[in-house]
Amino acid sequence: MSTVTLKDLKKTYANGFQAIHGIDMEIRDGEFIVIVGPSGCGKSTLLRMIAGLETITDGELMIDDRRVNQVEPGKRDIAMVFQNYALYPHMSVYDNMAYGLKIRKKSKEEIEQLVNKAADILEIGALLDRKPSQLSGGQRQRVAMGRAIVRDPKVFLFDEPLSNLDAKLRVQMRIEIRKLQRALKTTAIYVTHDQVEAMTLADRLIVMNGGLPEQIGSPMELYDRPSTTFVAGFIGSPAMNFIPIQVDKKDATLPSGQKLNFSAPSGHAQLLLGIRPEDIEITTPELADLTLKVSVIEPLGADSLIYGSCEGMKEDLVVRVRDKALVQEEEIFSVRFNQQKLHYFDPKTNSR
Ligand code: ATP
Repeated sequence: MSTVTLKDLKKTYANGFQAIHGIDMEIRDGEFIVIVGPSGCGKSTLLRMIAGLETITDGELMIDDRRVNQVEPGKRDIAMVFQNYALYPHMSVYDNMAYGLKIRKKSKEEIEQLVNKAADILEIGALLDRKPSQLSGGQRQRVAMGRAIVRDPKVFLFDEPLSNLDAKLRVQMRIEIRKLQRALKTTAIYVTHDQVEAMTLADRLIVMNGGLPEQIGSPMELYDRPSTTFVAGFIGSPAMNFIPIQVDKKDATLPSGQKLNFSAPSGHAQLLLGIRPEDIEITTPELADLTLKVSVIEPLGADSLIYGSCEGMKEDLVVRVRDKALVQEEEIFSVRFNQQKLHYFDPKTNSR
């Protein structure tokens, strides 16, 4: 168990490109941190800097009280699980798991005990003699996890470890990783671009944008109070709807010219009104905040997504409903917003 502290951590690549712009953060003992963000935001760079696979240009990286900027990867007491598992193809499962322990000069008996214990936890005891090529993707993933566990590291680092698995196995392994980390209480830092994975695994989420954290907080904090339109649009699927509104004193007007029948915060002539698809409901014309025309209906099983166009708005509004039979394609329908779930952003700064 350990803390990881980042002090004004920066990375500039040899070609002069600055990928990480000065991150300050303390990762608590036993915490599960997930780093999310769009492609190119610097997630992998940051993880690789913590792992020691990428040099640190400036700032400090501490594991507990030890400054590890210059410490080589094998001596940082961390274990990394990669997307492609990075197993040695010519070695058996047992030897793959034992390798790191052999290098650390553990006794044969101790190695055997540690590998067998990890194999028990991960239910791969029957596979120890096989080569990686004789395993399924999910089994390879377990071996990669096993190799990380046997070392009993201070910190686990995960680089999109589930992205090569099919949808069902992903969900299963996601739950196993969470259970395992809870049981071992090892500090974990996990990179993914899958926001469902991020929401379900994280104690705290870091949403990265252009080499800097845009917001850090618990999944529900970020979901309920996103500090910017970027976070609001990134967390939640489908994304939050944004409606540009004109505000005069407290009267708000939609792009269609229709007046909203609730008041918006004063002080800005223009605002972006944010509302999540599940916070909009279909209603009768008398109670409507907005009138839409159905462009597409997407049944998801338990509920459906209705995409509706509105005059003057470029993008369709998405509404999540339980009963898709409420509307038909091309139909005009009325919706009402849950007043407790409105978000307002300044369109100039994109901040809440
Ligand atoms: P993805 O989700 O696509 O893996 P990421 O968020 O992990 O993206 P990084 O791989 O950390 O992104 O890359 C961050 C930025 O740094 C990108 O703009 C990338 O092009 C750049 N970059 C990465 N490696 C190098 C390198 N060796 N030299 C120069 N620039 C690099």
